Amino acid sequence: MIGENVELPELAILSQQMTKEIVGKRISQVEVANPKCLNMPFDQFQKAVAGKTIKSVESRGKWLFIKLGSDYVLLFNPGMGADVIHFKPDSRLPEKYQTKFTLEDRTGFTIRAWWFCYLHLMHANELDRHKLTARLGITPLDKRFTIDYFRQLLNNKRGSIKTFLLDQKNIAGIGNVYIQDMLFNAKLHPNRVVSSLTNAEIETLHKSIKSVLNESIKMGGLAYEKDFYGKKGDYGSDQFKIAYKPEKPCPVCQTTIQKIKTGSTSSFICPNCQPLTR
Ligand SMILES: [Zn+2]
Repeated sequence: MIGENVELPELAILSQQMTKEIVGKRISQVEVANPKCLNMPFDQFQKAVAGKTIKSVESRGKWLFIKLGSDYVLLFNPGMGADVIHFKPDSRLPEKYQTKFTLEDRTGFTIRAWWFCYLHLMHANELDRHKLTARLGITPLDKRFTIDYFRQLLNNKRGSIKTFLLDQKNIAGIGNVYIQDMLFNAKLHPNRVVSSLTNAEIETLHKSIKSVLNESIKMGGLAYEKDFYGKKGDYGSDQFKIAYKPEKPCPVCQTTIQKIKTGSTSSFICPNCQPLTR
């Protein structure tokens, strides 16, 4: 499942695998049992989508951008969680799913959303009118996400560094899972005020954001999330340093890791390595 915990690594992996399996193929049939996820009536959606060739699949933050023909982009967001699973003509389909795309060669994929998901079809030249994605920031794996870019982004921002990093308009794709170790590596308390960060801290944080995400992608994403082939990743408890390890010793100084409330989210910190000094 790609879920509430879905973050950049999981969607980046999914988009790579989808690119390999479905790009270049034409959609022959579409079923949608939860039409509320669409941004138009099903009939209209079906008419627009059927017969279109899938041109590309890209991930941006928690969204997949699936280009259909030259005119349309299908925008998918898994909401609280969804399985997006590939099938072949002889595959057994998942027991439950709401959406099914069948391609011309009888392969395709099903989507099972746990709660809700978004499946919005937009004209390619009207993407800037799609409110949920138009203001998404760039992803940390984008070539443009340099240290200078990051510094510029942080400049004159109010509030805590954690709130800043979770805001998808600043950077797309960081959620409450990977952020824990990103901040720990940089020795930053989640409530540190952005304007108090030193240059050295910003540099360490920038490196840490990239390394945590790249390491997870290398390992196939989170251990409890399924990819396009239904396989779970290998990035789990052994890879986390302090995330989801309350009462365990800090891997650096052995101080007991604490779980604290930070706004609407939980944070895991080492009170010794990540003091709230300023
Ligand atoms: Zn520590």
